[in-house]
Amino acid sequence: MVWDLYTRKEEYHSQHLDQHDRFISAHGAYQDILDPAVSRYLIHNGFRPDYPEDKPFAVCLTHDVDEVYPPYRHILLSSITCLKKLDFNRLRRQVSWKLHEKEKSPYRNFREIMDLEKKYGACSSFYFLATHSDIRRFRYNIEDLEDELVQIHERGWEVGLHGGYYAFNDLEEILREKKRLEQVLDKKVIGYRNHYLRFQVPGSWENLTRAGFLYDTTLGYHDRAGFRNGMCHPFHPYNLNTEGEVNILEIPLSIMDVTLFDLGKSSEEVWNLVKRLIDTVASYRGVICLNWHNDSFNCPFKNTRKIMYEKILEYCYSKNAWMTSGENIYSWWKKNEY
Ligand SMILES: [Zn+2]
Repeated sequence: MVWDLYTRKEEYHSQHLDQHDRFISAHGAYQDILDPAVSRYLIHNGFRPDYPEDKPFAVCLTHDVDEVYPPYRHILLSSITCLKKLDFNRLRRQVSWKLHEKEKSPYRNFREIMDLEKKYGACSSFYFLATHSDIRRFRYNIEDLEDELVQIHERGWEVGLHGGYYAFNDLEEILREKKRLEQVLDKKVIGYRNHYLRFQVPGSWENLTRAGFLYDTTLGYHDRAGFRNGMCHPFHPYNLNTEGEVNILEIPLSIMDVTLFDLGKSSEEVWNLVKRLIDTVASYRGVICLNWHNDSFNCPFKNTRKIMYEKILEYCYSKNAWMTSGENIYSWWKKNEY
């Protein structure tokens, strides 16, 4: 049971996929995904990871950069929200970038996000798209963001690849996107998460390893918060077809902004769920991985998401967590040979 959950055996050749080929959580044999059963088993059998400066657990902070320029729907909803609140300064920023400078787009907000995290002694990973094709619309040209990418890297935050919609089962496409991002950044990238959390067990892990990635953070449910394979620690996936470990570190995703707020829950209910997950991971000396899209930070009609993120930083800071990027978690895990 623990082994099947850990390896995601039921996802091999599963027919229970949604329109984006993603495994649907409701079809999982193990439904108590707020309980990290596999990590619990490991801890009860002597596993005890440590963290820098004796921190009791870690938080892996990540941002998928899907949008750099607000699509028209966002501009409209943001404008309505600002008008309702008579917030004309904010309204100006939401609309004026389109007329003047693209650099002033409200979603080119990486510095603001880094400044916020710095206040709590944290840093994070930004995963950027570097593809020409997307299922919905053109997103952005990564070449236009060169200065921002360099700045993110120079401040000690991480730039990783947000693999395109069509990349998860296409090695050639992953290689193309990786190369394109590395050319702009002028540095190797080691971290990955696929757009829409599209993922194939175990094929995506194998492709990412072949492409030279050292860690992935895609393995979470798009429709539910929790622990998809019962783990609240990073791990090396096991391939049941080849009967061997895959040489990549998976830092499983537990909480994504979109999932939380799409469930129609109140802020209080969302917070209770988030707090429960953080407390659980802390009690197992684990790593909890969060994905907060960059457009959650400067989008007037999604203000609750930004407020929730700050609340999480504040809470984890008070619990003395190590709040850091995927890259730093990877290096620590490798150094300690966990
Ligand atoms: Zn995405």
